[in-house]
Amino acid sequence: MVQIPKVSFEETLGKHVLPSSCIGCASCVVVCPFNCLEYIDEKPFLARECKSCGICAQVCPRYDLFIPELEKNVYNRERMGNEDFGIYRKIVLAQTTDQKIRNVCQDGGVVTALLIYALNEGYIDGAVLSGVNETEPLKAVPKLATTAKEILDCAGTRYTYSPNMIALKEGIIQKKKKLAFVGTPDQIQAIRKIQALPLKKFSEAVALTIGVFCSECFTYEGLIRQLLHSELGINAADVAKINIKGKLLVTTKSGDVKEIQLKEAKKHVRNCIALCSDFSSELADMSVGGLGLESWTLTVLRTEKAEELFWKANSNKVIRTRPIEDEKALDLLVKLSRRKRVRAIC
Ligand SMILES: Cc1cc2nc3c(=O)[nH]c(=O)nc-3n(C[C@H](O)[C@H](O)[C@H](O)COP(=O)(O)OP(=O)(O)OC[C@H]3O[C@@H](n4cnc5c(N)ncnc54)[C@H](O)[C@@H]3O)c2cc1C
Repeated sequence: MVQIPKVSFEETLGKHVLPSSCIGCASCVVVCPFNCLEYIDEKPFLARECKSCGICAQVCPRYDLFIPELEKNVYNRERMGNEDFGIYRKIVLAQTTDQKIRNVCQDGGVVTALLIYALNEGYIDGAVLSGVNETEPLKAVPKLATTAKEILDCAGTRYTYSPNMIALKEGIIQKKKKLAFVGTPDQIQAIRKIQALPLKKFSEAVALTIGVFCSECFTYEGLIRQLLHSELGINAADVAKINIKGKLLVTTKSGDVKEIQLKEAKKHVRNCIALCSDFSSELADMSVGGLGLESWTLTVLRTEKAEELFWKANSNKVIRTRPIEDEKALDLLVKLSRRKRVRAIC
């Protein structure tokens, strides 16, 4: 058990993270034992007197993040110099065999297929996800899913930020014991910091982490309201899917595909992204991305438990796989991982 320095929110996150580098993951808000923090406009806000317990700073992925120590906790070793996208056991291309999932998923539907399988087989009793906002379609919102239908409803990618930690707290309140957590690289880092302390109430409830690859994440105001709606006349309610494959591809419910230059979308990238060095959720049990592939998910199996679930699902024909060797996607994974790390240092 780590000794937590008794330092206030104002002295730590308030001074060093909030002004310039807060990603808005809500980890600090969720773990505060005195409920001092509220989550407003994608940032923590000190709403009540801070008791200086210091826990908020200890879980923040932007404060005192020491990756080698976390790697040792998760994988029992630090990465070697040639492990550009972090430690892993196996890397494959995979896709769901279920047509219902293929109709709504982002790439190969691996995340949704594995979570539904894990729920049905008792590996998990719920999943912390990002779902669809009913009043503002395309806006990512945290969701706790406890049924296969709820997991399916969350399939697909929303490219705006979703503070999934908030749904983790909901899972704890509902006394879930075996949650899968799906999130962006910074959120996986926060989970690993929580487990390293450990904050048992949270860490013991997380049975599996699935991290998405992430080059960037956009503001809702910029990407959806300004670019799609005001400039291109596309209504969020008419959009069936947004994907990034070299360009931003917007597929409408009537089947039209609108191609938008990535540089137009990049005008609306969230500020915090420039400081993030992790492309492929390098601390997750399993990492997933599309990387220019059509209907396949590039799946990085990093821990034994991720491998066990994945290959059981594979042998039960829940997912099918194909080797990654000789695929351009692997080179791209290395390139994007290096690029994000360099960008964060500069
Ligand atoms: C913000 C963001 C940026 C991404 N950038 C890249 C990239 O640059 N390159 C790349 O190769 N892949 C990227 N991905 C990953 C990719 O879009 C797919 O999520 C991944 O390939 C898995 O596809 P799937 O069909 O297996 O997932 P699905 O079965 O469709 O499941 C997707 C899961 O993602 C979760 N999700 C959706 N939106 C969010 C969100 N905003 N935040 C957290 N979780 C969410 C849902 O809960 C769902 O369970 C990004 C994902 C996100 C969320």
